[in-house]
Amino acid sequence: MEETAAGRGQRRQRAARPRATRGRGTAARRGSTAREASADEQPADEASRAVVPRRTAQGGEPPVPRTLSARSRAAGGLRLREVLSQLSLGRQDVSEASGLVNHVVSHLIQAVRGRDGSFSSIRRLGAGSYYEHVKISEPNEFDIMLVMPVTRLQLDESDDTGAYYYLTFKRNPKEKYLNRFLDEDGKLSAFKMLEDLRRIIKEELKHIKNVEVTVKRKKRGSPAITLLIKKPPAEISVDIILALEVQQSWPPSTQDGLNIECWLGRKVRREFRYKPIYLVAKQNKKEKLPRGNTWRLSFSHIEKAMLNNHGSIKTCCESDGVKCCRKDCLKLLKYLLERLKMKHAKELEKFCSYHVKTAFFHSCVTWPSDTDWQHENLEHCFQKYLEYFLRCLQDSQLPHFFIPQYNLLSLDDKASNDFLLGQINYQLNNGFPVFHQV
Ligand SMILES: [Zn+2]
Repeated sequence: MEETAAGRGQRRQRAARPRATRGRGTAARRGSTAREASADEQPADEASRAVVPRRTAQGGEPPVPRTLSARSRAAGGLRLREVLSQLSLGRQDVSEASGLVNHVVSHLIQAVRGRDGSFSSIRRLGAGSYYEHVKISEPNEFDIMLVMPVTRLQLDESDDTGAYYYLTFKRNPKEKYLNRFLDEDGKLSAFKMLEDLRRIIKEELKHIKNVEVTVKRKKRGSPAITLLIKKPPAEISVDIILALEVQQSWPPSTQDGLNIECWLGRKVRREFRYKPIYLVAKQNKKEKLPRGNTWRLSFSHIEKAMLNNHGSIKTCCESDGVKCCRKDCLKLLKYLLERLKMKHAKELEKFCSYHVKTAFFHSCVTWPSDTDWQHENLEHCFQKYLEYFLRCLQDSQLPHFFIPQYNLLSLDDKASNDFLLGQINYQLNNGFPVFHQV
C-alpha cells in the first residue's frame, strides 16, 4: 500500500538533510527544538557515523569493514545489477495480473458511473508503483485510486501534521448529491462515502462474468475496500482508494515543501503546484476518537510525474539520452526494506515503501545533477542514498516531501527506527546477504 506512513506522531522538525544542502528550505526551520539545535553542531561528517558497524540481532557476527577497494566495489555493483535483473524477471506475471485487474476495474467503474447515484462522476487515476514502473515485488497487489472531482472545498487541518483535513462545502455547493455524506457537524464523512461505495461495488461485482471477484470482509471500524480476484493458484488483491480532486490552491502546509528547484527547476515546481489537489479517504490513526471524517492529502500524481521525468536534463534515461541509476537505487532500497520486513514483520511493521520513496526524493534534491547518478556508479549512488536514509533513521527525522512539518519517522517510534538502522547497517557492511537468501 502506498503512503501508509500516516498517523505517526509528528513534530515540527527541520528537514533531515546532509549539511551540504542546509540553508535551502529555511522555512522548514520553524519551531526547531533544542535537540535540533544541538544536531546543528554535529561534525560535518556525521553522515558517516550512521554507518558505523554495529552488532545486530543476527547473531552478532563481526561486520566487514567498509573501506572497500575499487575492485570489490565493482564486484558489489555487479551483484546489485544481478539483484535488479532478477527483480525484473517477474514482469510477465505483472502484466498478466494487471490485465485482469484492468478488466475488473474498468467494468466496475462503468457500472458505478451508470447508476444514478452519488458516484456518477467517478474515474480512475493511475497511482502507485506499477504505474511508476518501479513495481518490484509480488505481482498480486495493486492500488487503484478512484477519483471524484469536486468544485470547491473548505479544508481545515485536523491536527498539526498539515496532512489531514476536515472537509466542508462552501455555500451552495454544486455537488448536492454529496450532502447525504455529511456528518452532523457538516463535515464530509469519508466513512459514509466508502460504506456506500462498498455497497455499490458489492452489488455490481455480481454482474462480472468469467472472473471470480469478491470484496474482502472489512475490518471492524474500517470501511476500506479490497477486492480479491481469483487467479489460480494465487489471488490478486486490489485496494480501492477513494479520492476527491479539487482544482484549488494547495494548502499552506505545502508552501515550503517540494524543494525541487535545484533538481527539476523552478518552472516545473510551479507547474506541479498548479495541478489539482487530491484528498484520500484515510483515517488519521492518531485521533483518539476516530469518526471517519478525516481526509489526507495525496501527491501520488506528482510523485509519478517526478519519477517518470527525473533528470536535471530532460533527456535523462530517454532512448536518446544518458541513462542514470536513480530508479535502480529506489528499486533496490524498496526491495531491501521488503526483504527485511519479511524477516522481521513485527519489528518493522511501521515502515513502508513510502518512507523509502520519500528519502529517495530528498536524495534527488541533495544530489540534483544527472552526473550524481551515473549508471555505472550504481553501487556508490546506492550507498549514498542508503546512508542518507540511515541518517534519517538515526535522527528519527524524515520530513514528508511535500509537507515538511510532517515527520514520517517520529521519535515516538525510536525503537523501531533504531532496529531498522541496525538491520540496514548490517546488510550494508556485509554485502547485502538478504538479497541473496531465498
Ligand atoms: Zn535517468
